[in-house]
Amino acid sequence: MRYSRQELIIGKDGQEIIGKKTVGIVGLGAIGSVSAQILARAGIKKLILIDRDVVELSNLQRQLLYKEEDVGFPKAITAKKALKKINSEIIISSFAEDLNPKNIDLLKKADIILDCTDNLETRFLINDFCIKFSKLWIYAAGIATRGTILSFSKDSPCFRCIFENSKSNDTCETTGVLASTTMIVGSLQAKIALDILLNKKVPSEMIWLDVETFNLQKIKVKKRNGCPACNKNFEYLKGEKGSKTTKVCGKSTYQIRGEKKNLNELKKRLERIDKVRGNSDFLIFRNISIFKDGRVLIKADSEKEAKSIYSKYVGN
Ligand SMILES: [Zn+2]
Repeated sequence: MRYSRQELIIGKDGQEIIGKKTVGIVGLGAIGSVSAQILARAGIKKLILIDRDVVELSNLQRQLLYKEEDVGFPKAITAKKALKKINSEIIISSFAEDLNPKNIDLLKKADIILDCTDNLETRFLINDFCIKFSKLWIYAAGIATRGTILSFSKDSPCFRCIFENSKSNDTCETTGVLASTTMIVGSLQAKIALDILLNKKVPSEMIWLDVETFNLQKIKVKKRNGCPACNKNFEYLKGEKGSKTTKVCGKSTYQIRGEKKNLNELKKRLERIDKVRGNSDFLIFRNISIFKDGRVLIKADSEKEAKSIYSKYVGN
């Protein structure tokens, strides 16, 4: 029996319950790789995977769903393939897209949403969406040797209550991150997700841990007076806050969101200049990755340079 060891812990009825649940995972990097894999192996009914990035060589040290041959390809698509090989019985839909107010309905059918992203803006958006539609979600983050996990429900403080004024400039690129950090964070996030789906009580505190000192603490969090999201002013969901060009956590990569593209046409155009890889869904040209939804990832030293490359090869 595929789930026999797990059923000794959660019971056959528990297995039946999780076998009917849908989990949305935003971000398929280091933490998302772990969470998605645990839930796929556990026998969740359906996973909805959303990730805007492509696999880079520097990801392989910790993002355990990817191999060398995957470098350059979208993480969402590659993750789906890898997870299907692990458990062919579950349903997986994957979207190589940047989560934004226009496409966040992709998560509407999720019973719970796991934040495995690397940026506050997307988290504020998920927060707005989950308050508006009374959805449960779990924030998880890891940098260097430290990790944090916190689950949100209807009556809890929200993400904006706690992180509104957070100004962390730490990124994986500048500060670094250990695989052990992200793997323990993803592992705990998946455990909490399964507990919530099984209606078990989960910590209301923020879990903070350090794999260097082996400290693990539970930190109390509070609602903040005047929090816009708690007062149903969903600035991120309405698109009033958020930017069009964003720096991606990785090697000097910028994302520019433009119009939808006909990639067959674009491919012909670019082939006159240099070699182009990919098909009608996705193109790779030099240091530029182009998605059909209009997103373009550009390796550049500055936002300005990224915009210049965009104008030159993709077109505004
Ligand atoms: Zn709030």
